[in-house]
Amino acid sequence: MSFKTLNDAPLKGKKVLLRADLNVPAENGTVTDTTRIDRLKETISFLVKSGAQTIILSHFGRPKAKVEPEYSLSFLIPVLSQQWAHKVTFVSDCIGAVAENAVQNMRDGEIILLENVRFHAGEEKNDPAFAKSLAKLGDIYVNDAFSAAHRAHASTEGLAHLLPAYAGMLMSAELSALQNALEAPKKPVMAVVGGAKVSSKLSVLNNLVRKVNFLVLGGGMANTFLYAQGIEVGKSLCERDMADEARRIWDTAKASGCQIILPSDRVTVKEFGKGVPTQILKTEALTPDVEAVDIGPQSITDITDILSKCKTVLWNGPMGVFEVKPFDAGTNGLAQAVARLTASGQILSVAGGGDTVSALENAGVADQFTYVSTAGGAFLEWLEGKTLPGVSALTQPHKAA
Ligand code: AMP
Repeated sequence: MSFKTLNDAPLKGKKVLLRADLNVPAENGTVTDTTRIDRLKETISFLVKSGAQTIILSHFGRPKAKVEPEYSLSFLIPVLSQQWAHKVTFVSDCIGAVAENAVQNMRDGEIILLENVRFHAGEEKNDPAFAKSLAKLGDIYVNDAFSAAHRAHASTEGLAHLLPAYAGMLMSAELSALQNALEAPKKPVMAVVGGAKVSSKLSVLNNLVRKVNFLVLGGGMANTFLYAQGIEVGKSLCERDMADEARRIWDTAKASGCQIILPSDRVTVKEFGKGVPTQILKTEALTPDVEAVDIGPQSITDITDILSKCKTVLWNGPMGVFEVKPFDAGTNGLAQAVARLTASGQILSVAGGGDTVSALENAGVADQFTYVSTAGGAFLEWLEGKTLPGVSALTQPHKAA
């Protein structure tokens, strides 16, 4: 996969249409987590220093292809200006006269943020006319929104065919992390997959067993695999109707030389709740009246032993109900082992998707992995082996607008 990066782009005096993902977590008009904004800073600073005129495009929430003030991007202006240490000016539409006038009068180094692209029906439809209206505003297109790259929308895909297209620094970092972890990793490779259900990650599991040497299963989904082997899982979360599917994944794993590793012990409770008594049981010793809420200490030791012989680890999903203490201990223990092996230079570690970032933050090690992706759906689709339209568009030559 080869695409052009910002280092290849002529930037001085150019109008740069930068697709960013500013779909940040917010409550009552206040940003509750600035991670996505902070990670864009490198690209923003590079563009400013290079004398580009930066025109930011983003979506926010799911407005229904019309102006819905609660989804306006305008509330972000103070946060962006503060986090990027640079003035950002808001423009109330992303196409048409308002946008065209605003970009016409820009000076080098200036940044403007255009209103939510999803206020127009053409965005999600990837309508060529809408993409052309966006393309009119810029000389070049930079996509730094890996987390939106699984969508073939006008601002994430269509634009790349109309203007010279480049990957931003965040996009490049995401792609090289995923490349190093899954496409061309140092072996042996371990994938750790947890979370609630097998059904939501079927394609991920089917793809991973073909590519990795060890697949560690934790969380609720481990129960389905245990049940499929005839092991009692008690009241634990378990998708009994997925047992055949689990056995099929097992067969594929065997045929591909991938070893599936299930927890050897579990933290169990009689009734789920905060502060309830817990009991650690060997996996085979669960009784019908208990529920497994986490992996046990022996599992952490077993998995860490195998991990210490690996060179690469890819992680998605928690090992237990990490939102409720102390059921985060299994996720924390394993995540800390990954962090230690990463720090010693022994493994390359990449994590992402869904709840994974908050689980690693809770474990205090989110900044100690080689790379933690803030992308949810796009990260999972990559793990499924899918081609992401926003990424492949960057690798194809553009046609004239
Ligand atoms: P996912 O979005 O599929 O990665 O699932 C994340 C969710 O899985 C978290 O909210 C966890 O609380 C939940 N989870 C992890 N382990 C278990 C378990 N043993 N039983 C029930 N839910 C679990």
